[in-house]
Amino acid sequence: MRAIRFDGKCGAELVDIPVPEIEAEEALIKVKYCGICGSDIAIYTGKNPRAKIPVVPGHELVGEIVAIHDSHNSGNKMGDRVAVIPTLTCGVCELCRNGKRHLCKTLKFIGIQTEGGFAEYVKVPVSSLIKIPEQLDYEKAVLVEPLAVAVHAVRLAKVEVGDSVAIIGAGPIGILVALIAKLSGCRVRISEVSDFRVENALKMGLDTIRARQDDPVKRILAETEDRGADLVFECVGHPSTTEQMIEMGRSEAQLIVVGAFKEVPPVDLFRMSRKEQWMTASWTYTAIDFERSMRLLFQNTASFERVISHFMPLEETHQAMEMVKKAEQTMKVVLKI
Ligand SMILES: [Zn+2]
Ligand SMILES: [Zn+2]
Repeated sequence: MRAIRFDGKCGAELVDIPVPEIEAEEALIKVKYCGICGSDIAIYTGKNPRAKIPVVPGHELVGEIVAIHDSHNSGNKMGDRVAVIPTLTCGVCELCRNGKRHLCKTLKFIGIQTEGGFAEYVKVPVSSLIKIPEQLDYEKAVLVEPLAVAVHAVRLAKVEVGDSVAIIGAGPIGILVALIAKLSGCRVRISEVSDFRVENALKMGLDTIRARQDDPVKRILAETEDRGADLVFECVGHPSTTEQMIEMGRSEAQLIVVGAFKEVPPVDLFRMSRKEQWMTASWTYTAIDFERSMRLLFQNTASFERVISHFMPLEETHQAMEMVKKAEQTMKVVLKI
């Protein structure tokens, strides 16, 4: 089968490898689409020390079940259209048994520590399958994994109707957090440096701050009678945003870390004390977040248009990775397998 292999040195080679053979309680998926995630860039560039190198990446995949071993009769069958929860966990620790699989100490990901969805076929545990509703196209359903990240962050934050929400970063995750916060009844403002992403956010009807020209902190304060936002979501993962996050938030604001920080950020804890702010850090998603995300995609399909900016063939993965790495001219880029 055709697959893409990352070597951790910005190589994305198209290789011909055997179709995986399923074992007990596994399904073989014929991959239709697979999204490219920011975390795939870290593997591509060799900056994820936990990645198995070389690896077939890809954890945002949707496809069709073409073989299955399912002794527990999970309800999945050949021909089903499915998405995959890519987290692999021990299943027996206290966290796993209490619905917090994403916090399991042995957490691994399909497409990071095992072969993933940048391939014609991938094998996955039956327990990771989520059905795609009949009327929802693969092209739309492929957003379910990044959407689950946003749904998890907003659910953790316990937003309330009428809250003013500031979001730093209008990349795919920031935009999805904005859409979910809006659907939850919040007043949302989003700031972004890239012109392409600003234009995209504006076209999606979001109140957008051009962070290069307009100071996001001043704008948020000016528009909240100098109070600051009730909640601030950091969706960039860059140390330069932490001061903004604290200054944008009102006293007693909740600051939610969604971005994956590759460098340790400086955080002015005194400023946080002075404002009695509290910080919540969000990490991936649970199965419930995934199920809700699938429903949201189905029920609000139109809201999520424009989140995907490019569909590209598997053969052009290298080019796609270079585009996503620059991040200036893309939103979510999805590979068609
Ligand atoms: Zn992802
Ligand atoms: Zn566990």
